[in-house]
Amino acid sequence: MKALQFTNDDLHVADVPIPSQDDEVLVRVVLSGICNTDLEISKGYAGFEGTLGHEFVGVVEKAPGRTDLEGKRVVGEINAGCGKCALCRAKDPRHCLSRTVLGIHGRDGAHAEFLSLPAENLLEVPDPVSDQQAVFIEPLAAAYGIYEQVPLANHTRTAIIGDGKLGLLTALSYGATSSSTLLVGKHKEKLAIAEAAGVAVSLLDELDPAIHKTFDVVVEASGSESGFSTALDLVRPRGKIVLKSTFSGEPTWAASRVVVDEITIVGSRCGRFEPALRLLECGKLDLSPLVSDEFRLADGVAAMRRAAEPGVLKVFLRP
Ligand SMILES: [Zn+2]
Ligand SMILES: [Zn+2]
Repeated sequence: MKALQFTNDDLHVADVPIPSQDDEVLVRVVLSGICNTDLEISKGYAGFEGTLGHEFVGVVEKAPGRTDLEGKRVVGEINAGCGKCALCRAKDPRHCLSRTVLGIHGRDGAHAEFLSLPAENLLEVPDPVSDQQAVFIEPLAAAYGIYEQVPLANHTRTAIIGDGKLGLLTALSYGATSSSTLLVGKHKEKLAIAEAAGVAVSLLDELDPAIHKTFDVVVEASGSESGFSTALDLVRPRGKIVLKSTFSGEPTWAASRVVVDEITIVGSRCGRFEPALRLLECGKLDLSPLVSDEFRLADGVAAMRRAAEPGVLKVFLRP
């Protein structure tokens, strides 16, 4: 089968064997999405080698011991745990120390004709959710999953910093449930996507100083160093800053502000798929403005180049 791989410092589409793990489910990939993490990996981040990709929708081809799954349209949670530790026994392998992660750590990913995952990672996609929407389930779950650590009620004043894919998904998913959300970004055309969905927006350099220190929760999703100091500007005393983006440098920030204003800083990575699937199923969320392009898997290298262009949002790959 074809697979978009990063090996020996080289990104290429290779012919590789179809996965053949007897204790896992074989999924035929219908559509996969390119994430910034894929771009980072292709620069050598995390030292991953193998098939890239962790956002997909597919159809179960073969499910040993779970024939009920065969032929079902599925998405898959990306962390596969050891199955033995306390976290895995509690059915949440996201922090299992021995986990593998689809297309990110120790496990070939989704930019391929087939992938394999444990049966317990798979969720059936309800009929009303299109393939294009379903591919967004992983980043949407990551965006929406903030509520697990920081509950956001309708009246919680929330600012989201960053108008890239993650910031937009966070704004759209919370904009659907909260009327007090502000998205802050640098790109008028991207902010317009959130604005069209009813979310209040502001350009970063037009932020009204009167709203400094007024937000209960600030979500940093910009992936830039300045995002953190903007978050510190906006959060109220005793408020919370949620760090969503994996900024790879070492940001410098005013630690004394965190102390004096008694601010809580929370890191947040992967969300559960189930609540995000329900959010998609209710049909209130239109993610189509986030789709920039679609390429054939065979043109995966060109697709990655396209995804790295400024202003480009989600790029899909179709095997
Ligand atoms: Zn991702
Ligand atoms: Zn485990």
